[in-house]
Amino acid sequence: MKMPPVKYQRGDTVMGRWPGSSLYYEVKVLGFDAKSQLYTVIYKDGTELELKEQDIKSASGFQTRSRSRSRSPGRRRSRSRSPGRTTRRSSSRTAAAVAAAAITDSAPSSRRDTKLKDTVEVTLSPLPQAAENNSNNRHEKKEEKQKEDNNTSNKVNEKPEAKVQTESEKNQGRYNLRRRKDDGDTKPVEAKPEKEAKIAVAPAASTLSTPLDFGGKIGAYFWLLFLPAWVLFLILQVNLVDPSLVNFPPPLPPLEAFWDAQALGFVTLWILFQAVLYVLPVGKVSEGMPLRSGERLKYRTNGFFAIVVSAVAVAVMVHQDVDLTYIHSHFLQLATASFLISVLLSIYLYVRSRYVGQEQLALGGNSGNVIYDFFKGHELNPRIQDFDLKFFCEMRPGLIGWCLINFAMAIAEMKQQGLDTPSNSMILVNLFQLLYVVDGLWNEEAILTTMDLMHDGFGFMLAFGDLVWVPFTYTIQAYYLVSHPIPLSLPAVIAIVILKIIGFYIFRKSNSEKNAFRRNPSDPKLSYLKTIHTATGKSLLVSGWWGVVRHPNYLGDLIMALAWSLPCGFSHLLPWYYMIFFIILLVHRDSRDMSECRRKYGSAWEEYCRTVRYRIIPHVY
Ligand code: NDP
Repeated sequence: MKMPPVKYQRGDTVMGRWPGSSLYYEVKVLGFDAKSQLYTVIYKDGTELELKEQDIKSASGFQTRSRSRSRSPGRRRSRSRSPGRTTRRSSSRTAAAVAAAAITDSAPSSRRDTKLKDTVEVTLSPLPQAAENNSNNRHEKKEEKQKEDNNTSNKVNEKPEAKVQTESEKNQGRYNLRRRKDDGDTKPVEAKPEKEAKIAVAPAASTLSTPLDFGGKIGAYFWLLFLPAWVLFLILQVNLVDPSLVNFPPPLPPLEAFWDAQALGFVTLWILFQAVLYVLPVGKVSEGMPLRSGERLKYRTNGFFAIVVSAVAVAVMVHQDVDLTYIHSHFLQLATASFLISVLLSIYLYVRSRYVGQEQLALGGNSGNVIYDFFKGHELNPRIQDFDLKFFCEMRPGLIGWCLINFAMAIAEMKQQGLDTPSNSMILVNLFQLLYVVDGLWNEEAILTTMDLMHDGFGFMLAFGDLVWVPFTYTIQAYYLVSHPIPLSLPAVIAIVILKIIGFYIFRKSNSEKNAFRRNPSDPKLSYLKTIHTATGKSLLVSGWWGVVRHPNYLGDLIMALAWSLPCGFSHLLPWYYMIFFIILLVHRDSRDMSECRRKYGSAWEEYCRTVRYRIIPHVY
């Protein structure tokens, strides 16, 4: 049978009817599905929908008619519940994502709170459809499957709304007009077949806005207990002659061995010292990425200055015969003190997050479950005046503390093994990790375009990660070498150094490329790079480093992690802990980022994934 010709072509700009209303908005045609006879279109705000041909009009013909009705686009927009006011910036096809955008990205911030109180939420989302599977590996397929499963379970959970949906669907044709399942005591809104579709936003700050991470609410309980326990396990293992996973449970020290007031004093002093360096009016002030409100926060990026001053302070201490091996001998007490501070900080962060406006919250971490939100972090950029708590904790006490601890371990090694200089292995571990931290601080501005700064709220996960996990587990290799000497031949040293340089080159180049592009997409120096335009206005790099794999920076980081573990030899698994943990962390992080980007960029992201098929390791993963 001969198919009728397709009226509108991919890329055509036409007018698309907003479901349930008689209003038309400018849309771009993304494609046509011959089977369902539906056009996929994208609105200017990034909302993607499927429309029947009868709901589409050519732009020129439509303008004539609309003018004859003397309804100016401006007026129309201001009165209507337009896509721009409901799902702005969201190009996602998942209900949760559309809801997220509806909750947080809808009205201008000044009016948002009032609107939130006055209205109940109904989100518009397309009917489930077969997701295009462009996956190249099992992991990705599993993720797609999970997505589908989530959709299915959502549907089951939403049974009470089924009637509303059915009625709505009649009015909406191909669309679900449905209420969020976690709306609490809000009344359902009838989908009125009126001129302007009734769409509003969520009522409370405590409603879910992005799918839960880390195993959801149960997962949060687990991680809250597991992470500190794991740090303790590593610290207790590293002191053993023969550390092993099978030494479980390791011999526990008496309770009083955990506590040392002096250790708490040192950690507090260290954090205060770093805080003073952070607020000093030295170094450049950089702008963060635009927030949902459009605002761009300013950050004093003087991390390099901070590590130089810290190094001078440590040198003075050594000169004054301050015994830095205290750090080695009181590692457990110092870790306990940092843990205590991270818990107090997280409680403070959680409490203050309950009092800030919607626009200051991260999209995740607002499940309404106290434990999950405490763990995941709720407020995006908690600040005390200009003092940005998240940025400070991410970049200063833990990161610079990591180098200080490594240095103390080198001194402890010399003392314990009667050496005049640290071992080759210890020198490599110290230098490699110092380079990593110095580079991070030298390019401190680049952190402003990373997930932690842009998307994650500040809560226990990051506070614990920054103040405990980084300084007290990333130093395990140096700690291990103090009592487990590993002789390294010169060829081995050279081979490991070469590996580190390769990893560092990939890591630095790829991170800088993305950072430069995000800061100035029209930078002439980057004009050779191919990009994909997305509906949000941002583009995605599709050549250069970001055309090799989707996370070239993770690849570089993993190669470096390998170079950090090799100097510790193969006698024990313990010093390989970082490598193993890092693989898990980056694979999970990549997965989280994929979901987030799919939500943000919709079909443009799918196109990127089709073009750049591998995630981290070319042709492997
Ligand atoms: P990225 O720096 O990779 O940031 C991800 C973001 O980059 C995406 O959300 C997206 O944000 C943007 N992006 C993704 N693809 C493209 C593209 N093709 N073109 C342009 N922009 C793109 O992630 P992380 O924050 O996870 O990592 C930053 C660095 O920190 C990495 O090198 C990582 O290895 C390292 N790291 C180290 C850790 C450690 O403990 N040592 C822990 C975690 C990370 P948008 O589009 O919104 O700009």
